[in-house]
Order: sequence, then structure tokens, then C-alpha cells
Amino acid sequence: MYEDFLREVRRLGNLGHAASVLRWDQEVVMPEEGTGARAEQISTLSTQMHELLTSERMGRWLEELEPRGRREAAVLREVGRRHERAVRVPERLVEEISRTASEAFPEWNRAKREDDFERFAPYLERLVELKRRYAGHVEPDVEPYEVLFQDFEPYLDLRDAEDLLEEMRRGLSPVVEEIGAGGAEPGSPLGEVPEERQMALVIRALELLGFDFARGRLDTSPHPFSTGNQFDARITTRVGSDPLDSLLSAVHEFGHALYTLGLPVDHYATPLGEPRELTVHESQSRLWENHVGRSLAFWRFFTPVLNETFGTDASPGEVYRGVNRVRPHPVRVESDELTYHLHVALRFEIERDLVAGEVEVDEVPGLWNDGMERYLGIRPESDAEGCLQDVHWSHGSFGYFPTYSLGSMMAAQLYASASEEIRGLDDIVERGEFETLSSWLREEVHRHGQVYTTDELVERATGAPLSSEPFLAYVGEKFGELYGF
Ligand code: MG
Repeated sequence: MYEDFLREVRRLGNLGHAASVLRWDQEVVMPEEGTGARAEQISTLSTQMHELLTSERMGRWLEELEPRGRREAAVLREVGRRHERAVRVPERLVEEISRTASEAFPEWNRAKREDDFERFAPYLERLVELKRRYAGHVEPDVEPYEVLFQDFEPYLDLRDAEDLLEEMRRGLSPVVEEIGAGGAEPGSPLGEVPEERQMALVIRALELLGFDFARGRLDTSPHPFSTGNQFDARITTRVGSDPLDSLLSAVHEFGHALYTLGLPVDHYATPLGEPRELTVHESQSRLWENHVGRSLAFWRFFTPVLNETFGTDASPGEVYRGVNRVRPHPVRVESDELTYHLHVALRFEIERDLVAGEVEVDEVPGLWNDGMERYLGIRPESDAEGCLQDVHWSHGSFGYFPTYSLGSMMAAQLYASASEEIRGLDDIVERGEFETLSSWLREEVHRHGQVYTTDELVERATGAPLSSEPFLAYVGEKFGELYGF
């Protein structure tokens, strides 16, 4: 009977992976006029998935099956969780949310372009209302924001997450102030670099990091992202004015792809062959982007490659300081490694209060601007560069933002453990022997798929629950030295 259940689970998994390929295609290569047909294709797959997941047969299996061992228990736990959530929410509400979100997205886009919050406000209000209702169906006795947060991070307690984020914010604020007061702002040692050379450097970096191009590919898109499975992991980067940005975006997505490629092949399309949710996934990308890609050891290794590709004459120290420049920016995705998290902290505060009904939609622009001034000492000149900058709310995604910062904390904690367990890790990175770190991550994180919950996974890999300390220690050490405080 378990085998029949598992066959159905794989069907579900395959439909999900098929939808991912369609989404990748839409972002990367589809002609504009394909949008309507593509929406139908994806919605057909979603409906099929919903039917498989909520069927009576599935309900019976989940109720009656007795797991033999830890792995079967994990599969039942994960599918059971999704089933429960899916059956509790009326289909009409799911459709209404999805319809409202598809109407909201172009309105948000236009509101952002025309700097007109009023245009987006009614959609935001409607989405908050609908998501509150959704949360009420899933867990009527739990605070709605917590239910929404669990959609993105089911296995970290929101109270704990909130404490961690607050510790992070309190730890970062004085550091950002200190750096701002010092006025240190090393410029980029590179001039303008043509796009082909930027891409050439990205490809070279991916090869050296060990990206398997037989099971993966690289493309460009305005917003870098990654998708795929253990046989086919795809990443994108953006090329533009800052060649180091296109490189580090690619290194970030490489971290996501390495996770995907490290999942067990035998369990493809079942929870044992799927990654954990956003916090763990983001920890993998941030570890490579920040702890490797923004380290002095990496630049000692990679600067000669960069100079050769660009025909420049930069020194490792110059590039290292360039990629670690701290400067408050009104736009999150343009922000540095530190001030980024103050953006997240602010968005988290506001969306929590919005969902709780403690603030109204029309108060958001003011709250955003005041908050930016409080946390970053800058005031956005427009709502386009203020509360309208990010797309997430137009999708109805509330509770997503905290996972960015939690992912960074997890990255720091994992990297600290890797540094303890791998002797001379810095020297290894400086020699460009990245496979040592990749295999440590594969062993501790990737190969487990969803066998362990997020909290169990961190504790097993690092010997401690998720904490803000390794992140703050890393920040103090690296930026203290860079900026002399
Ligand atoms: Mg990411």
C-alpha cells in the first residue's frame, strides 16, 4: 500500500517539476504573447496537483499507513502537512487569491513605474484580507501571520524567529552607524566591462566553483533566480553596470543549485529528494555568496582570473573591499550584506502589523519612510523606491521576508561549523579547492532532502539550534577589520 501511495506522491512531484520548467521558460525565453496560454497551462497543472493532493484516496493513505522507519515517516509527515493545508481551504478562496494576485501584479508594476501607491492600495488591502481568511481556514486558533509564515518556513517557530531577527537588527544597527560615521567608501577598482566579458567571468567562476554544466545551465534574467531538480538545475544572473554584481548574483544562485544537485537521485519527486524550504535554501546561496564570494581568501584566488578576463590590474585587497562596501541604499536588492537585513526587518514589522490589522494600508508609505530613516538614516525620495519596491506583496506573499535574514543566520552558523571541522578552510578556498566545502554541505545538508525538519537539520549539522551569534560574530570580525572599529 505504501508503494501505491508513493507512486501518487511521485506523480504530484512530477507535476510540480513540470510547472517549474514552464515558469523558467516564461521568465527566460518565452515570447511575450505566450503569457495567456502559459497561465492556462500552469493553472491546469496546479488544479491537477490540488486534486491529487486532496483526493479521498490520499486522505485514506495518510490516515491508515504505518511508516516503516524514519524515511517513510518523513514522507508521510511532509505529504500529510501539505494535504491538511490544502483540504482546509475552500477551493473558491484559493481561486480568488490567485485571481486577485494576478490582477494585483500588473497594477503593482504600474504603480511602481508611476510612483502611485494609491493605485496599488486597494489590491493590497484585498490581498491582506484574503490571506487573513486563508489563515483562518488553515489554523483558526493561530495568529494569521504565523500561519502565513509557516507556508514559507514550517519548522521554525515564529516567536523564536522574531527574537532572532530582533537580535540581528540590534546587533547590526550600531555597526552600520559606525561605518556610516567613518565615511569609508572604497570605490570599485573596475571600470566599465562589456556584457560578454561579464558573462565570460561568470562562466569561468561557475566552472571553478564546480558547477556541473551537464546537469545545469546558466541564462540571464532581470531578477536572478534558480529552479530545477537533482538532474537539471538552472540558474540565471543579470548583467549590467556592475560586473561584480553579476558575478556575486551568479555565485548566490550557484549555492541554490548546488543544494538541488546534491539531493538524492533515488528519491527524485518525493519529499526525500526535495529541498527544505526557504530558510535552508537561502542559507546555501548566502553561504557561497557571502562567506566564500565576499571573502579575502576567495579574492586571493580569483582576482588573477578576473584580471585576465577583464584585462584589468586590480589587487585582491581592492576587489575584496569593493564587494564589501557598506552604504545604505533605498532599494533592498541594491543593498550591501549588512544594511540588507535592516530592509528585511522593516518589511517584517510592517507586514506583521498589516496582517494583524494593527495598521491600515494607507499608512504603509509613511511607516516605510519613517522606518528607513530610523534604521538606515535615509529617506526614500518616492514610494517607487520605498514601500513599492518589492514584488512579493503583489503575489499575496506575506511572511516570506523573514526567511531571507534567517537564511543568512543559518549560513553563518553552517560556515562556522564547516570552519571548525575542515582544517585550514580559508587556505583551501584560497587554493580554489571548493569541492571540500561542497562535500561537507552535501553530507550535512543536501543529501538529507526533507528527512529532517529545518530545526533538526541545523542542530545535527552544527550541534546547536539556529542562533544569531555566529552571524553577528562574523560581521564584527570581518567588517571591524575592514572599517577599523
Ligand atoms: Mg536566493
